[in-house]
Amino acid sequence: LAQIDVALAIKSGVEVIGDIELFARINTKPVIAVTGSNGKSSVVTLTAKVLEKAGFKVGLGGNIGTPILDLLAQNRDVFVLELSSFQLETTSSLKPVSATVLNISEDHLDRYDGMAQYTQTKHNIYENCENAIFSLDDKETYPTKINNKLSFAADNADFCLVTQNGQSYFSALGKILFETSNLKVEGKHNQLNALAVMALLSPWSLEAETFKQAFNEFLGLDHRCQLVASINKVKYFNDSKATNVGACIASIESLAAGSNKNIILIAGGDGKGADFSTLVPYFNKNVKKLICLGKDAEQL
Ligand code: ADP
Repeated sequence: LAQIDVALAIKSGVEVIGDIELFARINTKPVIAVTGSNGKSSVVTLTAKVLEKAGFKVGLGGNIGTPILDLLAQNRDVFVLELSSFQLETTSSLKPVSATVLNISEDHLDRYDGMAQYTQTKHNIYENCENAIFSLDDKETYPTKINNKLSFAADNADFCLVTQNGQSYFSALGKILFETSNLKVEGKHNQLNALAVMALLSPWSLEAETFKQAFNEFLGLDHRCQLVASINKVKYFNDSKATNVGACIASIESLAAGSNKNIILIAGGDGKGADFSTLVPYFNKNVKKLICLGKDAEQL
């Protein structure tokens, strides 16, 4: 019934908003906003940890943790918001200090009329933002209307990785900060997430040491490429939050040992209309055995 009423309200021209939009209309504190197909929770959690290290009282919310209107009632210095495309559909008043679309890969195509509409919805996050953070390697994340832009990527971006004397370092705006080994979560996708965190926080001008300490302490979130056991030289990972093709590829890339077929992959469930064919080269290169379950097992 509730669903029918909302549909009727929209049809009758009644404004329908979500809690994020209501928050945006009331809030007066600085906001950092994060969306993307993958890495949102990891990035907002690490961003909040860095800010807490620097002494800020942080409200971490949106598509994660405590409902945002409960956080608004508490005394917070800054809000870090994870925003899903669903939430961005009804959000127009947010004015983030920094905002990012981390990456775009196929997801939720059972809800949108194709990739263009899905991508456009994510881009709502850049509207009215002061600093737009984007992935230099992913054109779909490029902000079109914002003047202040900062890029992140493994190479040649404002926030990137630099190798010197065989060591890999995080580099920010041409300045080498500290070794990437300070980041305890593994895989290239996590290094990219860390670069995005630094870019998002650049308006706060924090010390490199603050990032370094937070990166050392962050051990990753549960269910995201999480090591659960190591038995007879076999490592078992729970990556059940890898619910789209992009996350599956990131997982294979971070666990693959060169071109060895060293991975037994258990995958399946609801593909939400995604095209699985981009997985084929990754399966061919590194997956020894594929165990499929659930609704789209056959297709996989
Ligand atoms: P989200 O909140 O966007 O779902 P999470 O941080 O919860 O993102 O991670 C979801 C999945 O995406 C996990 O499987 C994780 O390993 C993977 N992931 C995290 N960051 C990235 C990234 N930058 N690119 C691709 N996959 C990623």
